[in-house]
Amino acid sequence: MKYIQSSTTGHESGCIFCEALAKEDGPGNLVIVRGKAAFVMLNLFPYTNGHLMVAPMNHQAQLDELDADARAEMMELVSRGLVVLKKVYNPNAFNLGANIGQEAGAGVPGHVHLHIVPRWAGDTNFMSTVGEVRVLPETIDDSYKRIRAAWLQTFMER
Ligand SMILES: [Zn+2]
Repeated sequence: MKYIQSSTTGHESGCIFCEALAKEDGPGNLVIVRGKAAFVMLNLFPYTNGHLMVAPMNHQAQLDELDADARAEMMELVSRGLVVLKKVYNPNAFNLGANIGQEAGAGVPGHVHLHIVPRWAGDTNFMSTVGEVRVLPETIDDSYKRIRAAWLQTFMER
């Protein structure tokens, strides 16, 4: 069933993505970079260090509700995120994915987003970590500063 949302383009209160976009970029909102129709932010509750999320600027729940340009930009930002994370953390592998809808486990079902999770040999299995307390070797603040600096150096300062 389709219904009209109260706002499909504005900032939704209670949505971590919209609330981050309403703030100035920095360690306070965890936004790494903004494109035209999509942006990248650090996950405040990461599975591993460097856990990024890529989301559209607009509060939309479904990929097919987005403009093709926004979808294309999301994939470009994912690709750039992989490059930056390789530089900063030198991971062995990545998990890339989305939980679309509440029943799929989406933490923010109203605002579609892709997860990029760097993985190292011997780290805890991505799917089995749900509900466990993870001790990460780096603070969110440090992660933010390192990833942001590497992103700007790689893609903005040419
Ligand atoms: Zn939102």
